[in-house]
Amino acid sequence: RPGLYIVATPIGNLGDITLRAAETLARCGAVACEDTRVTGKLMKHLGLSKPLWRYDDHASEADRMRIVAAMHDRAVVLVSDAGTPLVSDPGYRLVRDARAAGVSIAALPGACAAIAGLTVSGLPNDRFLFAGFLPNKDKARREALERAAGVGATAIFYETAPRLVRSLETIAQTLPDREVSVARELTKLHEECRTGSAADLAAHYSAHPAKGEIVLLIGPGGDAPTDDEDIDALLTDALQSAKPS
Ligand code: SAM
Repeated sequence: RPGLYIVATPIGNLGDITLRAAETLARCGAVACEDTRVTGKLMKHLGLSKPLWRYDDHASEADRMRIVAAMHDRAVVLVSDAGTPLVSDPGYRLVRDARAAGVSIAALPGACAAIAGLTVSGLPNDRFLFAGFLPNKDKARREALERAAGVGATAIFYETAPRLVRSLETIAQTLPDREVSVARELTKLHEECRTGSAADLAAHYSAHPAKGEIVLLIGPGGDAPTDDEDIDALLTDALQSAKPS
């Protein structure tokens, strides 16, 4: 059926492709993807060959209009390099435009590093805030950590290996009592998850530099608000201050 299909792909282990994702990729008319080489490898693994259209954050409005126009008469799949499209990945504008154009839109859920990291961390998971990548600059990173840590929920960030120790040191200074988790290389050969104080984790990863892909999580702390209205107000504040200016 024509329309837009938002399809999650594996975050490392190719076995995590869902049956529905494989079927939809086999039947679709075209695949909009971040990097045609990365998606080309996945297609090859599945024994499939389809037109691959590059769609990333640099796509022009004209590119987007072309892709949306195609959704009126064929099934267009949106994938990213790994995991769930739109989760720290391109797709938001494409989905908005597709919705405005009135085409049918379906989500095919699957792997997402943030959720996989949360589930293995052992941190409270009844409420969580996904806050994407931490900013690169020290001051902005400290502020982002403090904001996210103030919402009374486990905070989830995507982090890069070279920056991990600096972020852990910042957490050790600003939030020394929090339980912290580092979930690394999820679903892959060297998968690991360590939970402890930021100071202990900083010492560990200084001695054994982390490689690969990382989800960093900060527990809610003992002073977390328990009243639903307090939590809603704090989440609204955090989301508003996280909006790009
Ligand atoms: N859309 C993806 C998802 O659903 O998780 C995330 C894309 S984002 C550009 C890539 C970041 O996700 C990495 O820098 C890392 O922080 C995290 N990530 C992706 N795969 C991971 C894995 N296998 N283990 C740990 N973190 C991972």
